[in-house]
Amino acid sequence: MKPLQLNSCIRDIPDFPKKGILFKDITTLLNNKQAFARSIDLLAKEFQGKRIDHVISIESRGFIFGAALAYKLGAGFVPVRKKGKLPGKTKQVSYQLEYGTDTLEIHDDAIPRGSRVIIVDDLLATGGTVRAVTKLLRSFQAKVVGIAFLIELTFLKGRSKLKGYPIHALIQY
Ligand code: AMP
Repeated sequence: MKPLQLNSCIRDIPDFPKKGILFKDITTLLNNKQAFARSIDLLAKEFQGKRIDHVISIESRGFIFGAALAYKLGAGFVPVRKKGKLPGKTKQVSYQLEYGTDTLEIHDDAIPRGSRVIIVDDLLATGGTVRAVTKLLRSFQAKVVGIAFLIELTFLKGRSKLKGYPIHALIQY
């Protein structure tokens, strides 16, 4: 069987959620059993043998890839959620959106000091979201071994906000 081209499984939806945005719809990739499995296998390949303790993912599409990857790597899964969703005591970070700000939270006891972690999200656009997560992680004194995305929109230069971290993206546009 030919290697599956993952990018052919991603659907472009113009003007979603608002005019001018070309939305990369991953539901068509998730729907394809070979493509979903291959995307998790390829993401895992980067980190196998690197003693990853926790996979940290961002609500909500990040959870889909992060949870499967944590299982594959034999790591724990740590959710980062929008404000007010986590039941325990949290640490918070606020970050700038195009209009206004947003706040992300993580349980304050989720990551023991010295843990080796990776951050996973579906898509790197401007990098603002994941940069906020890196700030959230600082006080835990964890080692961020890498940051992985299914998709990177290279023209938005999100990597420039994540200097010093090894970045992996399976598909680049
Ligand atoms: P950013 O903080 O700009 O890197 O935005 C990243 C988040 O926004 C990711 O979690 C994506 O789910 C979502 N996102 C941004 N742009 C797009 C796009 N063109 N298509 C799909 N999702 C997007």
